[in-house]
Amino acid sequence: MASSVNIPDFWYRRVCKISLALSAAVIAIWAGEILLPSSMPAVAFDLSWPAIAGFGLTLIVSLTAVIFSRRINAFYGAQASYLALAAALLLATLPGPAGSLAFWVVWSAVAVFAGFFGSWNLLAISAVASAYIGYLLATVSQPTGRTALLIWVTLAPLVISFLVWRRRKTPHDEKEQAYSALARQLSQIANKSDIVINAIADGVVAIDHKGIVQLINPAGQTMIGWSANDAIGLDYRSVLKIVNERGESLDDEQDIIQQVLKTNITTSSNDFAIMTSTGKKFLASLSVSPVGSLGSGAIVVFRDITQETAEGRQQAEFISTASHEMRTPVAAIEGYLGLALNPQTANIDDKARAYLTKAHESAQHLGRLFQDLLDVSRADDSRLNNNPQVIDVVAFVREVVTSLAPQAASKQLAMIYKPDIEQVRSQRISPMFYIVADVDHLREVLNNLIENAIKYTRQGDVTADVTGDDETVTITITDTGIGIPPEDIPHLFQKFYRVDSTATREIGGTGLGLYLSRRLTEAMGGHIEVKSQYGQGSQFTLKFNRLSNKEAAERIEDNAGKPQT
Ligand code: ADP
Repeated sequence: MASSVNIPDFWYRRVCKISLALSAAVIAIWAGEILLPSSMPAVAFDLSWPAIAGFGLTLIVSLTAVIFSRRINAFYGAQASYLALAAALLLATLPGPAGSLAFWVVWSAVAVFAGFFGSWNLLAISAVASAYIGYLLATVSQPTGRTALLIWVTLAPLVISFLVWRRRKTPHDEKEQAYSALARQLSQIANKSDIVINAIADGVVAIDHKGIVQLINPAGQTMIGWSANDAIGLDYRSVLKIVNERGESLDDEQDIIQQVLKTNITTSSNDFAIMTSTGKKFLASLSVSPVGSLGSGAIVVFRDITQETAEGRQQAEFISTASHEMRTPVAAIEGYLGLALNPQTANIDDKARAYLTKAHESAQHLGRLFQDLLDVSRADDSRLNNNPQVIDVVAFVREVVTSLAPQAASKQLAMIYKPDIEQVRSQRISPMFYIVADVDHLREVLNNLIENAIKYTRQGDVTADVTGDDETVTITITDTGIGIPPEDIPHLFQKFYRVDSTATREIGGTGLGLYLSRRLTEAMGGHIEVKSQYGQGSQFTLKFNRLSNKEAAERIEDNAGKPQT
């Protein structure tokens, strides 16, 4: 049973320590009397053996409770120590020449705390103490005055203890306590979340299932120029006016808050602007998360990204201008080094040729880096001009594979184009697969993937394949190269990411090719992914929506052109 009064563990630990100190002191004095009788004061303890055993037990119990205080329940440790001490004190009061009186005093002081451990504890001690008095009165003859005193010093502290500690938990108290604990907890949570929401520098608006604003934090109020008092209770469309980049308001299909309420899927976008109460417009990063079940409400978090976007644009412009300007002199250096290396235009010795070859390779690398930087800055700046056309994929990939075949041959790698192989094997022309995509983008992505496959393969082959079903066209580039460690795969399509291993360190690269390939593929509405077995090879897959042959024919006819190959 737990204590009737709520007492922190701190006090239970103190009880153990007090029991320990008392029992240790008694045992020490008793031992001193036996071992060094001459050095002890004349007042003898004269403790009975049961009392010594009681204090010894108290010492052991309270010491254990103190040592293991972190592991055992503090209440039970303290209760055990206390009971042992009370029993030892009662035993110590057994009549003796002098000591018993001192122990009566200590007992009285300790017994006052019997109720500290609850009423059962008090009852048990009272029963033992009464039985003990009964025993004393029955066995030892006492003068009447002393008998009364004995009863008084034994039982009075227990009565006092009852009065002091009797506060019981009534059902009402329990409810009250549970309620106040809950209220405390809730108010702490509410305070904490208020503090957090008020401290967030982003705007936060909570709306309910009807689209009514329920909460708007101070940052949001400042950003859109609405006070909480005015905004709460209004439809979010009057408060948080989301518009497109041209400042036109959105219909329900375009409104991302409506979409989140309809789909319950968290959505983010940097493509919208928000109109403030004074009619100013700022570019916003918006993130809308659903709350609870479908259509229950949403939390909108928004941030002004006008400056960020302008800075990003300036940065991209700087990179693009710088790389464009630097590409020209590098091209000149590359050209002149080419001339110097050409035996028909220059006579140089072998040593100079070796140096110039290295310089030529580095100039080529630099040129590629500038080109990649230029492409990447264009991609980041969303200036990728996507010029979709109908493409006959099998023929298109064949053309790219053929153009890169010499590169593979120079490394003694077999370049395989599966549709052609199958055509020879089964004497059947592979099906036509059409997609709508930008020809230059697709060529660049395929070039990147096939060049990588050649670059990162020492021996074996590079295989390109085109397959598909009614919905999708899949292009795969497979190699038998060095492969990619699994931990690098999630980062592979990030800007400047290169696998760092001895194998890749020897091979030059910028870490931009796959990033650019992903951006270009996504700009064309496609999807790129990779599978790899480290040390055995890699497979890059491009997926695009398939255009039915009928539709492709119609579109080609409409454009009065031919399919791009
Ligand atoms: P890089 O210019 O370094 O080739 P990419 O973006 O094209 O840059 O590729 C990023 C990294 O991915 C490369 O550095 C290489 O470690 C790894 N990688 C790309 N393609 C392959 C491949 N076919 N086989 C093994 N590793 C590859």
